Amino acid sequence: MDCLFCKIVEGSIPAKVLMETDNVLVFHDIQPAAPVHVLIIPKKHIASMNDVTAEDLGVIGEMHQAAQQAARKLGVDQSGYRLINNCGPDSGQAVHHLHYHLLGGAKLGALTG
Ligand code: C5P
Repeated sequence: MDCLFCKIVEGSIPAKVLMETDNVLVFHDIQPAAPVHVLIIPKKHIASMNDVTAEDLGVIGEMHQAAQQAARKLGVDQSGYRLINNCGPDSGQAVHHLHYHLLGGAKLGALTG
């Protein structure tokens, strides 16, 4: 499958991995938009939030658990952070493999259109 994040999961494209479990990978974004910027992805290919099914709810929960642990590891759990999913063209989703951006380490701007 021609998916960038599947290739990161396989190890054929390098990434700076922060954490890994059986089902979830957390790695540093290659173009950080904040002092702390990691991506949380399921190892299973799910194209977008629109493609999440009932059978994926376990891994979605694990992604949230991984986000909580990553925030702690990166020292932003108390200062605060933002968890973002882009879905579809208007959001600017560029990689069609489900991911959350975890952003923090600075005062983040208000989210407007
Ligand atoms: O939500 P969206 O699809 O726009 O975000 C994709 C993210 O993946 C971007 O922030 C980009 O910098 C990141 N990326 C990465 N490593 C790659 C390719 C893209 O961290 N090899």
